[in-house]
Amino acid sequence: MSAEDAYRPCPACGSANAVPLPALAPPPWRIGRCASCDFVFLLNPVDYSALEQEYAWERTYVAEDVAREAARGPVRRLARRARVLGYKLRGQRAFRYLSLLEPGPTLEIGCADAVRVTPPFTPYGIELSKALATRADEKMRALGGYCLQGAGAERIRDFPDGFFTGVLMHSYLEHEVRFAEVLAQTFRVLAPGGRAFIRVPNFSSVGRRLHGARWPGFRHPDHVNYFTPGTLRRAVEHAGFRYKLVNRHKIWLDDNIQALAIKPAA
Ligand SMILES: [Zn+2]
Repeated sequence: MSAEDAYRPCPACGSANAVPLPALAPPPWRIGRCASCDFVFLLNPVDYSALEQEYAWERTYVAEDVAREAARGPVRRLARRARVLGYKLRGQRAFRYLSLLEPGPTLEIGCADAVRVTPPFTPYGIELSKALATRADEKMRALGGYCLQGAGAERIRDFPDGFFTGVLMHSYLEHEVRFAEVLAQTFRVLAPGGRAFIRVPNFSSVGRRLHGARWPGFRHPDHVNYFTPGTLRRAVEHAGFRYKLVNRHKIWLDDNIQALAIKPAA
């Protein structure tokens, strides 16, 4: 698909009436806000096969990082290095989020090659990149699970109904063109009472408003959905879940939304 034509309809409500927000994305990328439901999204994403190959996440991530690094002054570069070192020292920090879920078979969608689901949880994964999925599969098999390679919206169909106690979508849903399908399938593969943890950039944060097109939550064309706490809630509830905002406190200051999608107990 050419980036110039064929804008997608709103992935949240299906409406074809999006208002372009040209200040937020450099050409050829176009971001718009749905006139019917306010959802903000990339109007012209690339297809999955292109994402697997030329826009592979590992590559654009490194390229953008190099460009951003060059644009920073020395003080900000130093501050960033200290922050990266902090993350490394804290190690598995991201996976404090596991404590929000019940131990059992747990699926991470968009797992890269990391196994952040560790015992007493059993790790399963779905990963688009072939190289990363192969490495994740090896590690997950050693812990009793496995990783499927492919698009989340497709490969999640290969898991049986009610199979998981938990699903992790950490920095994933903003990449998923077919996110409504993924949420519906997540509802299906979770056992009653099961929970999905979702972490996505917060489009309504103060940081986004201050930094404009330079907000780090923008990543073209990798990020295709820009959720706010309100539009995420609507999407999650539409799939049948109860929605719980985890970082309620000062959410307007936070560049990310952390939320639980809870499947009602039977
Ligand atoms: Zn809409």
